[in-house]
Amino acid sequence: MPLLIRNAKYLFSDPASVERDMDVLIDGNTIAAVGHSLTVPADAEVIDAAGCAVLPGLINTHNHLYQNFLKGIAAGIPLVPWCNDVLFPTVGVLRDAVKSNARIPWLWTALATIEMIRGGVTCCIDMDVTYAETLQVWQEMGFRGILAYTLTNRWVPAELRAAEDEMRQKTLDFIAAYHRPDELTRVFLAPSTLFLCDDDLMHWVAAQSERLDLGVQIHISETAGEVAESMQETGLRPVERLERFGLLNERLSAVHCVHIDAPEIATLAHTGANVVHCPKSNMKLADGIAPVVPLIAAGVPVAVATDGAASNDLLDMWEEMRAALLLARVSTNDAAALSPQDALRMATLDAARTARIDAGAIRPGRLADVIVVDLNRAHLQPFHAADPANMLVFCTRADDVRDTIIHGRVVMRERRIITLDEAEVLAEAVAVERELFEKRSLYAFNTR
Ligand SMILES: [Zn+2]
Repeated sequence: MPLLIRNAKYLFSDPASVERDMDVLIDGNTIAAVGHSLTVPADAEVIDAAGCAVLPGLINTHNHLYQNFLKGIAAGIPLVPWCNDVLFPTVGVLRDAVKSNARIPWLWTALATIEMIRGGVTCCIDMDVTYAETLQVWQEMGFRGILAYTLTNRWVPAELRAAEDEMRQKTLDFIAAYHRPDELTRVFLAPSTLFLCDDDLMHWVAAQSERLDLGVQIHISETAGEVAESMQETGLRPVERLERFGLLNERLSAVHCVHIDAPEIATLAHTGANVVHCPKSNMKLADGIAPVVPLIAAGVPVAVATDGAASNDLLDMWEEMRAALLLARVSTNDAAALSPQDALRMATLDAARTARIDAGAIRPGRLADVIVVDLNRAHLQPFHAADPANMLVFCTRADDVRDTIIHGRVVMRERRIITLDEAEVLAEAVAVERELFEKRSLYAFNTR
């Protein structure tokens, strides 16, 4: 059935283009037409967007969905001790818990996906602790998800690692089973970071990415210590090492890039690699400030993302866009350092490039991932027409998103998730939290 979004007060078809009183016709999973007063097909479902803004769905290009179980724990610890003392032990406990309750990964994915759909996110990339249940939730909920299959063979405690050959074969089997570029779910390769993977594994990832045309995501240069260690071990900075592995190309998303220098920015620019900026996570873990302004000036596509909930703690892309803007401005002493249009581009068009999907703009032929934002709210009125992008980016909150459409299907309408019983998921989450907390002391870090 065709879907007509009618009478949008503002249509942000891409970050640079805003038009008034527009209709959007969706046929199947793509956008069929955009214009004034389109004819309503006889069998169309109609969404009245009077008084609303309509824009491409936001794309959260870096996440660790299991961390929705780790919100609000162990604040005040920098990255490396945080991994050693908090993250790895909790991952171990969660993996043990999954052995006796396979519903756990289903549940953390459902919680995170509900949070994202409610905030207008239509696609995400999930890295780390990944299970097939995650893809099952996305298919059930009609969410566009990319599972970045995580690979490590150094530093991570041995009991959390699989044998090398087995790991590589399982990775290829997983890709064969779940990589569906024409549908809702796809698989990327994710060597977690350079210091967690040896050179042989990195060469293998580069070869598989090219052979199977797969996206690759990696955490890179998140801390100054990581760069110093790389220099000490290899004499090379992390981005230089990525280039030597043959990984710098348009398939790569390099997450963080906080501690990169001018030659590394130039290298990223000429190779076409994408950067993912996680401002709130970088601030929470005191990693530093990524050089987003020089990266964009050099022509590097930069997407913005929340990172996992343990270091954010929300999966709120509106907050993330604002954090990117404010951090860029205060760190450069330039109140015009990034524009609201830049922020929108980081959450839509450049994010779509990073996710390797034909979305991020509302144009005929593009994937129909579209959101409707209710502007009839006290904090959004009067909505100044002189600079709608400024109003939208600085004033919108996640719960202003009224309707979320993914792959041409309405998954949230009038704030109600249609594809899953949210109340049941929340009741199950309360019960699982009790089990993990009381029986397994998962959250003991809060009390020490
Ligand atoms: Zn991360």
